[in-house]
Amino acid sequence: MTYSKDFAVKLKSSGYKLTPQRRAIISSILSSERSLTPQELHSSLVEKHPQIGLVTVYRTLELLNRLGLLCEFQPQGSARSFKAGPAEHHHHLVCRGCGEVVDFTGRCPIELKTSLERETGFLITDHQLEFAGYCRNCRGK
Ligand SMILES: [Zn+2]
Ligand SMILES: [Zn+2]
Repeated sequence: MTYSKDFAVKLKSSGYKLTPQRRAIISSILSSERSLTPQELHSSLVEKHPQIGLVTVYRTLELLNRLGLLCEFQPQGSARSFKAGPAEHHHHLVCRGCGEVVDFTGRCPIELKTSLERETGFLITDHQLEFAGYCRNCRGK
């Protein structure tokens, strides 16, 4: 799923320039349906943009993530990866076959939070919910 959220507008309004390197990195992120590690993103760029180094990819991802333009993933035992996502609170369906990530908003288990707080005395300020399985294309294989 691709979000046509305006990365350029967000960068500029936050005081950052849309350099050709950032532009290339952003369009690569927007065209991917799965989350990419900095290395994967770098290898997808290097052929057309040999001037973009891995450090630039790392820095740009950190910046875009800080601006709230990305979703971040860190499965146990794997490297951090990123994809473009909606700004509002949402959850993920992740395909174990091809790695596709589908964002869904709404249907947040907020009732669970309230009852957990009551039971445990925790003040819950954040949560993550992720479903893993097989997408339409992968489930038949
Ligand atoms: Zn997301
Ligand atoms: Zn799949």
